[in-house]
Formats: sequence, C-alpha cells, structure tokens
Amino acid sequence: MRQGRVEVISGPMFAGKSEELLRRVRRAGIAGRRIEVFTHRLDVRRGADLVSSHAGAAHPARSAASALDVEALADPAADLVAVDEAQFFGQDLVAVADRLAVRGAVVVVTGLDVTFDRRPFEPLPSLMALAERVTKLTAICLVCGADALFHERVEPVRESAVQVVAEHVGGEDKYQARCRLHVRR
Ligand SMILES: [Zn+2]
Repeated sequence: MRQGRVEVISGPMFAGKSEELLRRVRRAGIAGRRIEVFTHRLDVRRGADLVSSHAGAAHPARSAASALDVEALADPAADLVAVDEAQFFGQDLVAVADRLAVRGAVVVVTGLDVTFDRRPFEPLPSLMALAERVTKLTAICLVCGADALFHERVEPVRESAVQVVAEHVGGEDKYQARCRLHVRR
C-alpha cells in the first residue's frame, strides 16, 4: 500500500517557495512518479496552466477553482499532488490535503504563511501543524540582508528613482521582503 503524506513549503513572498516546489516535482519526475500540479484559477500572474518560479523554472499545471475542485480533479493514481499558492484555496484545503494523503499521495502544498501586515495567513498555519514535513523558507531583507520573515507593501510615494528601477527589474513592484527589525509596524 502506498504511504501518503503532507509536505508544506511556506514563507513570505520572494522566499523561493515555488522554486522548491518545482525542485520536488522534478525529482518525482525523474523517479517516474505520476505527478499532478495545481494552481488556483485566480493566479494568473505568469500565464494560466503553469507553475513558475522567479528563477525561471516552470511546470505545466491544472487550474482549480477551489480545494474541493483539486480533490475532484486529482487523478486517484497520482503519486504526487502539488498545490501552489495555497492561500487562495481557503480552509477546505486542510481536509482535502489529508484525504489525498490518506489515499496514498504525497501532497506538496506551498503558499504564503503571512499576510502583508504580519498576520498568520490561513490555511498555511493549519496545514503546517498537520503535515509530516514542513519547510519554512525566508526571503532576504532588502534593507539589511538578514533572513526576511515578512513582505510588506511598498509605499506608493517613493523618493529614490534607483529603488523604483530595482523593483521593476525584479518584476515585483508592490511588495518587498523585510526582516523582523525592518518591517513597518
Ligand atoms: Zn532587515
């Protein structure tokens, strides 16, 4: 009998969560496992039907409208079911991940565990508590270079043109990573 489990990859924006998800997907592919990758219908940042990382890696994905949709669409024979941007799926994802693992799948869930104003962001905290494996990633604070637990909205009014350019090169202009000391309070 196949032994399923739940693995969570959590962290703020810019922590490399999707890159780590795709690394596990690639490894499962090399091992010949059956893989299904899901993203949320609302997540259209880099094109539908694709999970991609800031570093440029990508894998085909199916888009689902809800956690129950993931459960209904997932191939019962899938060895690995990956769910990107889990914060879009709501609390139902906790029970769905459990049921998929009970039926034998390794369920890899990645998403934001904090909001932009430093609050725990469900369902990630619940998923972390009920997972066999948790990988909590950090980003890099853009002020000091320390591990960044948080991301925050960039102020709409900016004084530094250099900062504006840097943000656009990075492809993200609304948020920046911040450590505990440098996040706005
Ligand atoms: Zn800092």
